[in-house]
Amino acid sequence: DTIGANLERTVATYPQAEAMVDLPSGRRWTYEQFNADVDALAKGLLADGVAKGDRIGIWSVNCPEWTLLQYATAKVGAILVNVNPAYRSHELAYVVNQSGMRLLVSATRHKSSDYRKMVEEVRGECSGLRDVVYLDGPDWDELVARGADVPDADLAARQSELDAQDPINIQYTSGTTGFPKGATLSHRNILNNGYFVGELCGYTHEDRICIPVPFYHCFGMVMGNLAATSHGACMIIPAPSFEPAATMRAVQDERATSLYGVPTMFIAELALPDFADYDVSSLRTGIMAGSPCPVEVMKQVVSQMHMREVAICYGMTETSPVSTMTRRDDDLRRRTETVGRVMPHLEVKIVDPVTEQETPRGVSGELCTRGYSVMLGYWESPEKTAEAIDADGWMHTGDLATMDDDGYCAIVGRIKDMVIRGGENIYPREIEEFLYSHPGISDVQVVGVPDVKYGEELMAWIIAKPGSEGLDADDIREFCSGKLAHYKIPRYVHVVDSFPMTVTGKIRKVQMRAEGIEILS
Ligand code: ATP
Ligand code: MG
Repeated sequence: DTIGANLERTVATYPQAEAMVDLPSGRRWTYEQFNADVDALAKGLLADGVAKGDRIGIWSVNCPEWTLLQYATAKVGAILVNVNPAYRSHELAYVVNQSGMRLLVSATRHKSSDYRKMVEEVRGECSGLRDVVYLDGPDWDELVARGADVPDADLAARQSELDAQDPINIQYTSGTTGFPKGATLSHRNILNNGYFVGELCGYTHEDRICIPVPFYHCFGMVMGNLAATSHGACMIIPAPSFEPAATMRAVQDERATSLYGVPTMFIAELALPDFADYDVSSLRTGIMAGSPCPVEVMKQVVSQMHMREVAICYGMTETSPVSTMTRRDDDLRRRTETVGRVMPHLEVKIVDPVTEQETPRGVSGELCTRGYSVMLGYWESPEKTAEAIDADGWMHTGDLATMDDDGYCAIVGRIKDMVIRGGENIYPREIEEFLYSHPGISDVQVVGVPDVKYGEELMAWIIAKPGSEGLDADDIREFCSGKLAHYKIPRYVHVVDSFPMTVTGKIRKVQMRAEGIEILS
């Protein structure tokens, strides 16, 4: 199936089921209305001369138009380019030019970001960009109105020219470890992944999914939107960008059955002073993904948020994204210590990063995956693609993992994050888990900083609980002493209010390492 055909199948089965709710504006769509708005927009794109394979960018925080454009571009066979709303003008220019974008749909402003101003700043540098359509203004309505005279048959004709293997989407990676890379994905890649994520969550047309994670990222647009529309479930947009209170209110008022987030989002929700006042009894499931989840947080999500079936997913933008996932009946241990087992119809193996041989069960190595989910490639970067996907089709993820006898995988860390101190390999994750049990620590990250004697030393970045702001290296040493091997005890401690983050909510260790070096010099 193509994404458009799949949506139409859902519309035919559940025309009156609710498809989308936008809480900031109060607007609601049934599947029938949603599809009608998608078609009207798709015809507007046809009238605008959009050809199959043209790149159309979307630069905005979450809003209904984002989702409508996602499906309209899929129906006309254009390639949607997701532009990170946290980008500034020079990064926008890079993505516009790198992807050869023809049309950009852009928000005007959000909070302190003046998108219109940033677009106008770099427009002169983007010679291939023919048109910019601003949301919440007349442009969008004009784009839709342009399609009014386009016959339905024209849209149907375009859809019949599409193939499930066509590229449909360029998603840039989070940029956690460097500059973001544009993963080119097909209908087959992301529709299958969204569908199977929904299957494993047990979604039906009665499910209501609260999506506070960004649409620009695969977590929102694939695990959220595509999982929902392929099962007739409802997408709930609580706010344009993540706000813990708005998210909890959306869960309560819309009786959400599923809630998504990266661990830091769940931490923020649980920390709301009035958390206990929200009625979250409608929740059954949800997904926590993107980075490792502290055991304590998982326990609270299950007990205090009623998310007894909450799933942990592991994946990356390049693999559509999900490769492994826990199952509904997995016990708490599996949902805290592992990232589940391989998704249906995919393969996962763990190899020694040097010899490329599969490691024995339980021994860590690089996680590699193969199957329908592996991206077509990095957009116009054949060398980078060849580095990531080998001749046999295996995607090398750059993540260190183990697999047990039952096939459950655990992520040990990123190969790039591993710290080597005096010849000993240290996985920061292990130390973070341990320090998290310190009563004065609210959140913690451990990075390596260069050291003349040992090559690298550990620095712990700590967000302290109120009253513990004075934590220092001596306190940490005392807490760890006798419980962690001496070389795993952080030498430096840096207490902060927040960690540097990507807009997908991931902690930017590269930046923490760079700042750590500056602090020490
Ligand atoms: P970049 O590739 O630009 O450096 P990124 O890898 O963070 O950024 P994404 O594709 O958004 O960009 O994230 C994929 C990565 O997130 C994985 O390779 C893995 O390191 C991490 N990750 C995803 N899910 C989990 C999980 N459940 N537990 C631990 N880590 C995870
Ligand atoms: Mg990556």
